[in-house]
Formats: sequence, C-alpha cells, structure tokens
Amino acid sequence: MILAAGLLVLLGLGLFVAGILTGATALYWGCVAACVVAAVLLVVARRRISAAASGGTPAAANGAPAATPGQGTAAPAGATEPAGAAAPAGPAAPPEDLPDPDVEEVEVTDLLLVVDLKDEVLVLDEHPRYHLADCVHLRGRTPIPLPVDEARTDGFTPCAVCEPDRNLAQRARARRHATGT
Ligand SMILES: [Zn+2]
Repeated sequence: MILAAGLLVLLGLGLFVAGILTGATALYWGCVAACVVAAVLLVVARRRISAAASGGTPAAANGAPAATPGQGTAAPAGATEPAGAAAPAGPAAPPEDLPDPDVEEVEVTDLLLVVDLKDEVLVLDEHPRYHLADCVHLRGRTPIPLPVDEARTDGFTPCAVCEPDRNLAQRARARRHATGT
C-alpha cells in the first residue's frame, strides 16, 4: 500500500517533470491526480497500520501476530504470607505482674529485735518490700541482698507473705538461746 503510494508519488513527479519539459498542462493535471491518489493511499495505509497496532484487524502490516500482552503470567507463587512474624513469644512472663504483698504485721517484740539485726534480706528494685530468699515474690526476679536494718532504714517494709521480721526475730532468739545470752 505504502509502496503503491510511493510509486504514485514517483509517477506524479515523473508527470510533473514531463509536464515541465513538454509544457503540456494535461501532464500537470496528471501529476496532481497522481499526488492526490498517493495521498489518499498514504492516509488509508496509515489508518490500517494504526488499527492493526491497536490490536484490531490483523490486516496487512508486518505479519507479526499481535503479541498478546502478558495476561497469562499468573501472580507470583509466593502468596503464602509469613503471618507468624508477629508476637515474639516472650520468655514465659515471670510473675512480674505480681502486685506487691501487704506489709507484714510485726509484733513489737519482734520488731525490737529485728531493727538491730544484720541478717540479710532481699529487696527488689522499685518495690517497697523486703523478703526472705524463698519468697514467691522473688521468683523470676533478681533480688538485691541487704542487711535487714539497712533495708528498714532505706524505707523498705517487711513482706506479709514470707514474714521476714518474724522469721528473723525467731532466728535471733534461737541464736541467743543457743549462746545462752
Ligand atoms: Zn516476701
């Protein structure tokens, strides 16, 4: 089609040149006619090409089969999302939430003994009670050892669960009894 148009243009040019050479007006008109036909052919050819390019009729054009756009390539197979990346299973929460125990109710006789004792009790940072080593409130934590008199001076109070004052007073009495003083 385009080739034909080109030939017509050449023909028109030939007619034009011939018209100039011969001075015959008929040849001019022949030239004009050839050019008009060539233009029409070019327009039609262009439309056909653009139509073919837009996926329409496979008409002429360069017989390349309209490359079907990759509709077939399915989604990537890695659809299994690792949904488990969430909550990092924390270390089986130690009784960190355990509320501070009540304050041990100490008898005055015990208290008078305890205030002078150097026996070691255990305290927890940021917690107001002091404890004995086997107290449930120390489980899973890192207690700080402290002489009981110092703990009291620092404002710590005895734990009502492990009752350090009563136990320490009993120990003190036992020691006194053993030494006979
Ligand atoms: Zn305790």
